[in-house]
Parts: sequence; structure tokens; C-alpha cells
Amino acid sequence: MVTGRHTVFSCAANFLRGRKCIFCGSFQVLHTRRGYVKCGRCGKNKSLRRLRREIRILQGFYQLQPAYRLSQDLGLDVKVVTRVYHRIREALYHVTELEAGKLKGEIELDEAYFGGRRKGQRGRATAGKSVVFGLLEREGRVYTKVVESVSAEELLHHIQAHTRKGSVYFTDAFRGYQSLKRYGHHHTVNHAKTLVSRRTKNHINGIEGFWSYAKHILYQYRGVSKYHFPMYLKEVEYRFNHRQENVFKQFLKIYFGYVSP
Ligand SMILES: [Zn+2]
Repeated sequence: MVTGRHTVFSCAANFLRGRKCIFCGSFQVLHTRRGYVKCGRCGKNKSLRRLRREIRILQGFYQLQPAYRLSQDLGLDVKVVTRVYHRIREALYHVTELEAGKLKGEIELDEAYFGGRRKGQRGRATAGKSVVFGLLEREGRVYTKVVESVSAEELLHHIQAHTRKGSVYFTDAFRGYQSLKRYGHHHTVNHAKTLVSRRTKNHINGIEGFWSYAKHILYQYRGVSKYHFPMYLKEVEYRFNHRQENVFKQFLKIYFGYVSP
């Protein structure tokens, strides 16, 4: 949040007034008689009514409002809201994968289980659960992957694909991480000694913090199907990796394809 009277939503004011082009940021905007805004620079046009509606829906998306509730608040058909939500999520999925890159330095690794009702057995996607492998660079980004299993081979495959060789890895004592020392430096955290570990660098508090963050957000979207789960997870990853920025502003750019000059 920004201080004073400005909020994260202030950046949308000129778009809502039809003064600034949502596609290129130009102020050379003309209003047509049919209620469209037309840009004198990039030439794109859009109905101002629809533009306002989509921006309001993106505000609701930013605030984690369930689609059906937002549709009631805005007096819209739920399908209109769902369509915008789906489009932004799909775009976020691709952006997050594109900007992932390779993590380096001190990296925390851990797995977590989402969805389903009962507590599953470790390493298995039982009871409708999704298994997620998470890699977090300290002072940096997180990268997540929905996996079929947490076999040593599968974990090592993702570690090789998403981290630089020679990194320093922190994990718990799970067997799946045993072969890691062949790939970099490996520190194992003993959970029984958390208090001792916390004073040293030997902990996985960063990735555990991300799991709580993810569970808090996904709780707002109760009942996400296993099929749609990977897309929701990438949305969480995007929000987390950009939490120091105005994420709503980024959503506008990503949704409308607007590139800041
Ligand atoms: Zn333009």
C-alpha cells in the first residue's frame, strides 16, 4: 500500500477516466460517439464501459474476491467475472514460467500437499491432494512445481532444471534429497532442533513461510479442482515474487498487454 490518499488502485484513475491508453500509456486518447476510447498513438480502441468493468473485476481479483461474490457486488453475470479471472490467471501462469530463470546461492527445498480432505502419506498424491515441490532462493524468488511423486529422481530433475549447479541447498531429512550432495552443498535441517537451527543459517523458514502464504490465499478459493490447481498455484507464486511491488498495477499491464514506456 502507498501512503497518504493514494492506494494501490490510484494507478488506474486515468484509465477509468478515459484519459490514458490502457494498451500503451499514451495520453493522446480520443472519445468516439459510440463510447469508445481510441488511442492516437497505438491506434487501439476499446469501449470505455467494458474497460471500466474489466478494471473493476481486476481490482476484485487483486483483493482475492471469489468470482460469484464479486459478480453480486458489481451486479454482473458471474460468467463475465469468470472470463476475466480466467484470462488474467492464464496470463500470469505464462509470465511466471517465463520469468522463472535459474535460482542460485542459498536455496531452500521442500514439498507440500494441497487440497483433499485427509492428511496424505508423504510422497503420494492420495485423497485428491496435489503435491507441490517448492524451491526458494533466500532473498529472492520462489519456484513451484506440481509433481506426480516426490521420488529422488523427480526432485533432482527439477533441481537441475531450476537451480544453478554448485548452489547451497537446505532441506529437511527426507530421503528424497539424499543424492543432492552430488549436485551442490547440502545442509539437512533437523526439525527437532528448530530453535538451535534458527540461530544459524540452517533452516527452511523461507519456504515454510511461502507455504503458509500459499495456503492463506488458496483458502479464499476453496474448492479449486486438481485440474485447475497448477494455474492457481502460479498466481500465488507471482503474487509472492512481486510482493514488494504494486501487484495490481502489474495485473493491469499483464492483462491488457500494456508496456510501461
Ligand atoms: Zn495507445
